Amino acid sequence: MKYLDEYRDARIARALLSEIAQNARRPWVLMEICGGQTHTIMRYGLDELLPKALELVHGPGCPVCVTPLETIDKALELASRPEVILVSYGDMLRVPGSRGDLFMVKAQGGDVRVVYSPTEALKIARQNPERKVVFLAIGFETTAPANAMAIRQARQERIGNFSALVSHVLVPPAIRALMTSPECRVNGFIAPGHVCTVMGYEEYEKLADSFHVPIVVGGFEPVDLLEAVLMLVRQLEAGTAKVENQYVRSVSYQGNLAARRAIEEVFEISDQKWRGIGMIPRSGLRIREEYGDYDASRIFGLASITAEEPAECISAQVLQGLRKPPDCPAFGMRCTPHNPLGAPMVSSEGACAAYYNYRRNLVRVEG
Ligand code: SF4
Repeated sequence: MKYLDEYRDARIARALLSEIAQNARRPWVLMEICGGQTHTIMRYGLDELLPKALELVHGPGCPVCVTPLETIDKALELASRPEVILVSYGDMLRVPGSRGDLFMVKAQGGDVRVVYSPTEALKIARQNPERKVVFLAIGFETTAPANAMAIRQARQERIGNFSALVSHVLVPPAIRALMTSPECRVNGFIAPGHVCTVMGYEEYEKLADSFHVPIVVGGFEPVDLLEAVLMLVRQLEAGTAKVENQYVRSVSYQGNLAARRAIEEVFEISDQKWRGIGMIPRSGLRIREEYGDYDASRIFGLASITAEEPAECISAQVLQGLRKPPDCPAFGMRCTPHNPLGAPMVSSEGACAAYYNYRRNLVRVEG
């Protein structure tokens, strides 16, 4: 299959590994931002094939994992109301809030429905004019254009019973926050190819300059990631720090301009809380005033809901690449995909779920 088989080709992967081994002369810590990239690394054991001097740490790029607890609690509150149909992607139903998850609310009679796109949420709103349909609109820059277009469409069609509970996060401010942390060990980043497909990579150049850190926009297949690692290693060994694009089959410098315009029309940049990490200035998107009639937070007066993370979950350190899931005492014991304590174990893109699926041998047996 074009654009798939050749990126899983063992011969190409072996050649890249050999080049990486020849080029890596010093220890480097590299972070892949996206949870999809983390899963590929774990699934194909790429981290174990690299020279020992290279360490891969996993970043905060799992949208389900970083959606703040408050947002989940707001969704739980809304889903409990008889007049509301809460519409969401399937992953979100199992994310634990302060008092259970959306599955629990559904089991207690709440009208919670799973969709694959915001367009389906709009359809539910058209079909149920007597109910209030709230779409849980989360994600990185990748999902923002479709969510923006759904909100715009709702206004064009005057669908008055549709609104969105928005929790959008942006990658570049998160990289800035990671780099300004005194604990940061990261020498180079693999930026998320799908995010850059939408946004381009112009903004990453400022980060590479400011922090003298190389950034390579990478894809999601094993060969993509090995090539991105090689590009980073070459830069690090040469002492350069620029942005390079490995994922050329999808990413252009400016990204998708129509998608960016849709985001800018409906959303504006705001400070945003990241689950486990805390507030990162100007790292989120909120619905603009002009579209306020479609903002569930404003319509339902949910701003006052706040929440604290459970102490046992170390996802804050996992999402910043400071620790790995097996370092968590609950990993694979009290926290599993069937009984998750934290969001990184729930999501199909979460680092803890990746380790649970592919490195379960690392579970510590408590004695
Ligand atoms: S294993 Fe579970 S409790 Fe530990 S950091 Fe991951 S999600 Fe949190």
